[in-house]
Amino acid sequence: MDELRRAAKLLIDAPDVTLLGHVNPDADAFGSAVGLGLALRGLGATVRVSFGAPDRVPESLRHLDPDGLYVPASEVPAVPPVLVAVDTGDIGRLGVLGDRPAATIAAGGQVVVVDHHVTNTRYGTVNVVDAGAEATTVLILALLEELGASLTAPIASALYAGLLTDTGSFMRATPRTHEMAARLLTAGVDAQATARPLLDAHPFAWLRLLSTVLGRAVLEPSAARGMGLVHTRVELAEAATVRPEDVDRVIDLVRSTKEAEVSVVLKQVNTEEWTVSMRAVSRLDLSAAARALGGGGHQLASGFTARGSAAEVLDRLRTALDEAPLL
Ligand code: 5GP
Ligand code: MN
Repeated sequence: MDELRRAAKLLIDAPDVTLLGHVNPDADAFGSAVGLGLALRGLGATVRVSFGAPDRVPESLRHLDPDGLYVPASEVPAVPPVLVAVDTGDIGRLGVLGDRPAATIAAGGQVVVVDHHVTNTRYGTVNVVDAGAEATTVLILALLEELGASLTAPIASALYAGLLTDTGSFMRATPRTHEMAARLLTAGVDAQATARPLLDAHPFAWLRLLSTVLGRAVLEPSAARGMGLVHTRVELAEAATVRPEDVDRVIDLVRSTKEAEVSVVLKQVNTEEWTVSMRAVSRLDLSAAARALGGGGHQLASGFTARGSAAEVLDRLRTALDEAPLL
């Protein structure tokens, strides 16, 4: 990929690099930023990693940043000389840091976008975008190779985290996924120590939350073009009893419903505002539905933010799903 070589060329001797992930980062966003950040620091650069919100690293991701590359959004320079945005399909997903790409470009700096979202808008001066990559960390590893950076255990662990979570714990793996996992494990990743905080360690309060939220799930067999929809919601007061990452994991249980092609969790962020997580098994293109509703993402995993009551949001969603393209 030509863009990969261009990215490596400008990063190899950049003295100061700011790496940003999307708001409410997941393991792929944060792992990509930390993995590349550690490598660039090893090459002599001053680096910082940040994201628009929240103003600290989610607890479940903290082990991926042993050297503390993270700084809160308020400490990100107004005009970063070199900016790298990872796993972030469009500028809106940078949240309060959304003005930085334009500021950098206006000052004659470079913005490198490294991403695998099919909805990516290519807002960088260099765009390493491959919707066929199973995780952004796959593209970061290719970039590290191009840079000639060595694969230390902390770098490998950060990259492994994104590979693990974005492939659904290797459920959607290809031969290349396992080859990369093998390389990372050989470089020193402790698989269980890396995975457990991400996927398998929740507070006890999460069990109570699940009992309420799964208890109100609704199955609509004729929705989603007759392929079935299962949905539920997490209300504000309920979300307050656990960590944000615990709320984000609810979709992984809802999506195991055999009778539904599409699963949805509405997560209340304000009285009349919801962030919506959507998953499809294999037959419906949700990225189109999400885009129609003002969001984006992947064909089988996408999301959007919506205003209104839960019933209103679901109505709009049913319409969008009935119009979603088949895969
Ligand atoms: P999640 O349900 O895990 O929050 O998000 C699933 C996928 O949809 C991720 O790839 C995420 O980047 C994308 N996504 C979620 N919410 C939004 C949104 O509001 N806008 C856009 N463009 N993408 C989103
Ligand atoms: Mn990703």
